[in-house]
Amino acid sequence: MIIIGLLTIIEHLFNLNFGLDQILFIEPYGATNTFSPNRISFITAIELVITSIALLILDKKVNKHVPTQYLMILVGILALMVLLGYLYNAPEFYQIYNYNAASIYGGVSFMLIFLAVLAARPERGFMMVLTSGEYGSVFGLRILLALAIISVFLGWLRIVGQNLGYYSAAFGTTLYTISILIILSILVWNSILSLNKTDRERKGANEELRKNLEELEISNRELKSFAFITSHDLQEPLRTIASYAQLIERRYKGQLDPDADEFLEYMVSGAKRMKSMIQGLLDYSQVEAKGNEFKVINSEKALDTALCNLQHSIDHCHAEITYDNLPLILADECQIVRVFQNLIGNALKFRKKDEAPKIHISAKKDGNEWIFSVKDNGIGIDDQYFDMIFEVFKRLHAIGEYSGAGIGLAIVKRIIDRHGGHIWVESSPGKGSKFYFTIPIKL
Ligand code: ADP
Repeated sequence: MIIIGLLTIIEHLFNLNFGLDQILFIEPYGATNTFSPNRISFITAIELVITSIALLILDKKVNKHVPTQYLMILVGILALMVLLGYLYNAPEFYQIYNYNAASIYGGVSFMLIFLAVLAARPERGFMMVLTSGEYGSVFGLRILLALAIISVFLGWLRIVGQNLGYYSAAFGTTLYTISILIILSILVWNSILSLNKTDRERKGANEELRKNLEELEISNRELKSFAFITSHDLQEPLRTIASYAQLIERRYKGQLDPDADEFLEYMVSGAKRMKSMIQGLLDYSQVEAKGNEFKVINSEKALDTALCNLQHSIDHCHAEITYDNLPLILADECQIVRVFQNLIGNALKFRKKDEAPKIHISAKKDGNEWIFSVKDNGIGIDDQYFDMIFEVFKRLHAIGEYSGAGIGLAIVKRIIDRHGGHIWVESSPGKGSKFYFTIPIKL
């Protein structure tokens, strides 16, 4: 296409004839004797070359701009020139100098090609502005379309009337200008009203959203203080129950009947469990309020502290713990120690009965965050519980099977949320678990 177009332009400009135009259609006998029968017109040849280049670089992008679209605008303008030239009977627009005139079919075809190429990549370059579906795009598109149809139609009407002698050129132009102005004003006016209405609705919705957010914040604050106050205040009567139950157990064990001894045992262990649950709830409600300021800390040091705190359990189950170099991060050191301690503590607790725990901690950079992982060779978790285990008081085992209140991971999740990261687990039963958490890089 590009070669045919270029050769035709050269033919036109240098008055040559390569016989190109006779390849498909031989000039019939008796046809007008011209130097260039069947030749593609000058304008069409230019359109052909531009369209070919535009299609060759269809997906090229230069700083968010798509050159093809600008080339096709040129083609569209040339096609419009040809079409309007025919419609308004102005040959200067479809016949440049005395080269072959462009045909009306060529004009129509290139107008369609122009639209088709632009429509082929609606989500790119400036087409995105028109197709975004946002209010501005919808109104802009509507006005553009109306403007095109009205101005072409009124222009045609103006010329027809003038040619038929109904009015002078000056009268026709004045009428044309006034009509266009009136119609455009009505269109723009409608758009203004519509946009204003949308704007008012948006402002109303924003106001409602702001109010809802405020209410949500208040109820959130109340909920936090409720969780704090109840767990804090519940501790006192519970402590009394627990200590007196323990006192009775110590003083009267063996003196009462065997049933009473058993009931006392249940009471003491229930009180202990409740104490640890309430303490967990208290910790959970204070993750934000009691959190320290974020500082640049060495996460490897935080891990060392956590391992130190867990030393007894590590020795007890002969765990093998390894870790890679860990990075500097912006975080609350105490809370990161707590995260490691909980995750490693769980890895030790949920170990296989017949295998010493092997735990590995590592970190890798991914975009603008660090992904930490704690991998174990323990009992593993079924994938249906992957989300549930991060909820408050959700445990997967019967009481007494494994110790714990079921709030450790909920606290860990809250801490990671506070740091702007997220946490998840990969695991399968019997094959160990790998807990991941991320910390954004903000150093
Ligand atoms: P807790 O350890 O007190 O029960 P958590 O919130 O720390 O509570 O954990 C919730 C549940 O998730 C645990 O009861 C356990 O069933 C499961 N879980 C957590 N960590 C692991 C792990 N490393 N391996 C297997 N199961 C785990």
